[in-house]
Amino acid sequence: MILADYHFHSSFSSDSETPLVNQFEAGINEHNLKYMCVTDHLDYDWCEDPEGFDFMLDMEAYLEEIKKLREQFKDKASIKTGVELGIQSHVKSDLDAFYAKYKDKLDFIIASTHLVEHMDPYYPEYFEKFKDKSILRYLEVTLDNLDVFKDFSVYGHLDYVVRCSKRFGIEYKPEEYMDIYDAILKKIISLGKGIEINTAGFKAGLDHAHPHPSVLKRYKELGGEIITIGSDAHESKHIAYNFSVVPDILKAAGFKYYTVFSELKPEFIKID
Ligand SMILES: [Zn+2]
Ligand SMILES: [Zn+2]
Repeated sequence: MILADYHFHSSFSSDSETPLVNQFEAGINEHNLKYMCVTDHLDYDWCEDPEGFDFMLDMEAYLEEIKKLREQFKDKASIKTGVELGIQSHVKSDLDAFYAKYKDKLDFIIASTHLVEHMDPYYPEYFEKFKDKSILRYLEVTLDNLDVFKDFSVYGHLDYVVRCSKRFGIEYKPEEYMDIYDAILKKIISLGKGIEINTAGFKAGLDHAHPHPSVLKRYKELGGEIITIGSDAHESKHIAYNFSVVPDILKAAGFKYYTVFSELKPEFIKID
């Protein structure tokens, strides 16, 4: 049984309307989670968004609310403070300034590729531009992003783009991308950082979490040990989404432990 959800959002994120307290209540009362880390979105210079989102984060109000809820739930679960940072090369100075200002207040940082050349793969223009190179381009930018910002805990949803590519008729064969996955995974391992298993892939109708099991297996073969588990829930009904299948996925890839973070340092929990 998995005891930790280390990737979910609340109304502090542009794209969620769920009060943070509801997320903790769902995790603790319905899924018996013992470790919960909220990771609301912060994306500097978001693209022009049809839904009007800006993905900025009111850090002071966010930290205040987490502090209050940590106290409220202190006998039931370990509540941690995280953030999901969208990486783009031209916002490097914003990311570095954010890290310098808040590193002592954070337990966990997810770095994610959300935009590629300032386009969101969620929308058709991305696939119209890159066509059958759409998945590769996303991974190339992810590799470049590892030189832009290195102060993260785990890199988020490595093959997020395939959530979208399916809608545009592009078939995902992970084995076609193993060279670039190797480069990405080796870089992450050499930085002493990790990846996550993100179960929102299932929610999006894929038959796998992010990343695909073959990528997870490769990460372990290359020496990767740090792996957090996240639902990427934006609503309470998706907290710990499909976590019942996660122990088998992790064991099949060779993992005996999964990871939680406290004060930006990894701690390991045995999979049982
Ligand atoms: Zn994300
Ligand atoms: Zn997320």
